[in-house]
Amino acid sequence: MRKHIVAGNWKMHKNNAETVVLIEEILAKKQANSTEIIIAPTFVNLATAIENTKDKNITVAAQNMHQAEGGAFTGEISAHMLTSIGVKTVILGHSERRAYFYENDALLALKVDTALKHEMRIIFCFGEELKDRQNKNHFNIVENQLRDALFHLSKADWKNIVLAYEPVWAIGTGETASPEEAQEMHKFIRNLIDKVYGNDVAQDLSILYGGSVKPDNAQEIFSKQDVDGGLIGGAALKADDFLSIVNAF
Ligand code: PEP
Repeated sequence: MRKHIVAGNWKMHKNNAETVVLIEEILAKKQANSTEIIIAPTFVNLATAIENTKDKNITVAAQNMHQAEGGAFTGEISAHMLTSIGVKTVILGHSERRAYFYENDALLALKVDTALKHEMRIIFCFGEELKDRQNKNHFNIVENQLRDALFHLSKADWKNIVLAYEPVWAIGTGETASPEEAQEMHKFIRNLIDKVYGNDVAQDLSILYGGSVKPDNAQEIFSKQDVDGGLIGGAALKADDFLSIVNAF
């Protein structure tokens, strides 16, 4: 059965000391809950996060990685570097990576393959822009993103895939998809996976929603049948807000 997951994407926030403090606050206030908690601090703070969450039921994820095994790629981080410090989950395809660093689905397909080769779990982000929704093209956009980045995978590979539907117009804007809009898209995605990979893969797949999820809207969004959790940006930076989202299931 698929898991409930709430993942905090800390983006380029929190220095090392602040990372320690936020983790301490989360650990001190977190209640027993079957929802998996993931935090994704910046690269330089991953080792600290791993150390400070050891045996605490919190998973640490990277926000990105390079597709190559290694080499002359100044400023980049490989899958092997991540796994060597204990990071086993990576966020790929975030809309900010797509928009500001020109990552497209062909590149993301390579990153996905490298991550899977290293037995990492992937939180794969995708979603339409506002103009796509206004043009009623959002289902096509989402289908193309998934097909181009993920549909070359084998059925077995999907054990290590978590999807995060993040409509670009809802990220960091305070705008959120209505619970009905989120459910409509998540159902479309699950049906698509069912068509391509079969019902067992579709039913086991966790599909997260991301885009201005806050303590006051999380419960309604998470109450939808095909929403299995959230990828949280702004609200993941305050322990109380983040945990109230975790507790919204
Ligand atoms: C995100 O960055 O993935 C995100 C959903 O951000 P926010 O929650 O701030 O909209």
